[in-house]
Amino acid sequence: MFDKIDHIGVAVSDLEKTIKFYRDQIGLDFKGTEVVEEQKVKVAFFPVGESKMEFLEPTEQGSPVGKFIEKKGEGVHHLAFRVDNLEAKLEQLKAQGIELIDEKPRYGAGGARIAFLHPRSTGGILVELCER
Ligand code: ZN
Repeated sequence: MFDKIDHIGVAVSDLEKTIKFYRDQIGLDFKGTEVVEEQKVKVAFFPVGESKMEFLEPTEQGSPVGKFIEKKGEGVHHLAFRVDNLEAKLEQLKAQGIELIDEKPRYGAGGARIAFLHPRSTGGILVELCER
């Protein structure tokens, strides 16, 4: 089951500036930041209704989000769907021939368990499945 869009991940090169803009000028509710070592990003959370905006600043050059910004510039990085049984969903998608980046769940921001599907299989969008 895909319950909802859990969050939209946006790659940015200056998180402080981004926080100031979305908090002070757009007026979104700012819920703090977290460094996710495994993905080498610092993440800022802004809930919007049942979903969230997550802004991702690379903590190292050459990290996945750092490379993304180098290649494509800042912008929407991934779309995350909430699922209720991540392992089962991954098995099912793999059986359907969908290309997975992560065959096993890994740690994501906010204590979620996440896995990415390859954009080659998803119409050019990096899709994250997210279980909370
Ligand atoms: Zn995400």
